Amino acid sequence: MSLNRDYDIIVVGGGLVGAATALALARHGLKIALVEASPEPSLPQDESWDSRIYAISPGNMRFLDSLGAWRTQELSRVAPIEAMQIWGDEHAELEFSAYEASVPALGYIVESRQLQHALWTQMRQISEIELFCPAHCVSLTWETSCARLALSDGTSLSARLIVGADGGNSWVRTQAGVGVNTRDYGQLGVVANFATGMPPRNIARQWFRKDGVLAWLPLPENRMSMVWSTDPAHARKLLAMSPTELGATVAAAGGNLLGPLSLITPAAAFPLRLQNAEVMVKPRLALVGDAAHLVHPLAGQGVNLGFHDVIGLEETLNNRNVQVDVGDYALLRRYERSRKMDIYAMQITTTGLHALFGSDLPGAGRLRNLGMTFTNRQQWLKRRLMAHAMI
Ligand SMILES: Cc1cc2nc3c(=O)[nH]c(=O)nc-3n(C[C@H](O)[C@H](O)[C@H](O)COP(=O)(O)OP(=O)(O)OC[C@H]3O[C@@H](n4cnc5c(N)ncnc54)[C@H](O)[C@@H]3O)c2cc1C
Repeated sequence: MSLNRDYDIIVVGGGLVGAATALALARHGLKIALVEASPEPSLPQDESWDSRIYAISPGNMRFLDSLGAWRTQELSRVAPIEAMQIWGDEHAELEFSAYEASVPALGYIVESRQLQHALWTQMRQISEIELFCPAHCVSLTWETSCARLALSDGTSLSARLIVGADGGNSWVRTQAGVGVNTRDYGQLGVVANFATGMPPRNIARQWFRKDGVLAWLPLPENRMSMVWSTDPAHARKLLAMSPTELGATVAAAGGNLLGPLSLITPAAAFPLRLQNAEVMVKPRLALVGDAAHLVHPLAGQGVNLGFHDVIGLEETLNNRNVQVDVGDYALLRRYERSRKMDIYAMQITTTGLHALFGSDLPGAGRLRNLGMTFTNRQQWLKRRLMAHAMI
């Protein structure tokens, strides 16, 4: 039997950004359908750690809390970042601390599946949200007064607005005929978690090395999560290592600062690219999160930018005149314009750092180290950088 259902908004993709979108828009009384291709996220029975770890900014932590999805997580598994230490290639060091910024934390390290589970638990409790999961989208068409989404089980959904939150290879974006500008960084991000000889003491550490950018993010107690953005040959070498060899290699690359490392989650790798959708909106369409933009993970800001999209879309729709349809193009353009600077600034910063620290040109090393030493000595500049990263 085929079903026909009508909503204000259909969100396609129930990752962190899509789930946050559904919750943020439902709290203004909008009727939402959320369509997710994978089975509903669940937590493992054992105490194992997720290799997908995010650094969430304090501003986004407050946003997630306002959605009821922060404290639903197992908070003993969340680590506050109290300080950040960054090293250049000639030992130039830059340090930021929560104490200097007079804040409790510079950010929070969370596991992807814990946060995902918290968002879904919250969505289940909201009557304005209907979940279609797992569901396979087969066609998406736009009419003057609505958009229609057909699912493979014969269900037909219609809504005033479609939100594409279906990741970097967005199906919604393709159906809408929106192209992307892509630049491959020629790198993979290798991620793995380790038990450490000494506790990381809530300090995030990052090294700009000749072979890429290595980040150690603190997890509670004696654990840490690594992201090593590096060229594909080196990434493959890391992935092929035995757990003992990988632990020794990562420990040595970070100057053995946390003592010996033993692998607690298998290493995995993700391709890294810079990507922008040609437009973020069309009549009855808005893109959010990775569907709209991808950035280099060296600043740990991908999902944070996505949550900023959600906040921008929520503000735009909530501030509209009630007679205005949520799929109105002029309204959606306001959302797009509100996001331009933030996305552009983050892409310029991450791509600039990637280029500066990846360069072998004469003078590049000196410039890098002068820049870091200068920044470290300027309290005003550090405060501004920290204030920006904490939104
Ligand atoms: C190595 C690495 C490290 C990173 N570290 C950080 C970090 O520390 N901090 C940070 O902020 N960001 C980080 N990022 C970026 C971050 O992972 C992404 O920005 C974030 O996951 C984007 O979330 P999203 O919900 O937009 O997309 P996704 O997480 O890709 O979710 C998309 C969802 O849509 C679903 N979907 C896809 N197609 C369909 C379809 N046709 N129909 C229905 N559902 C569909 C998928 O199943 C999925 O659930 C990192 C990225 C990499 C590669």
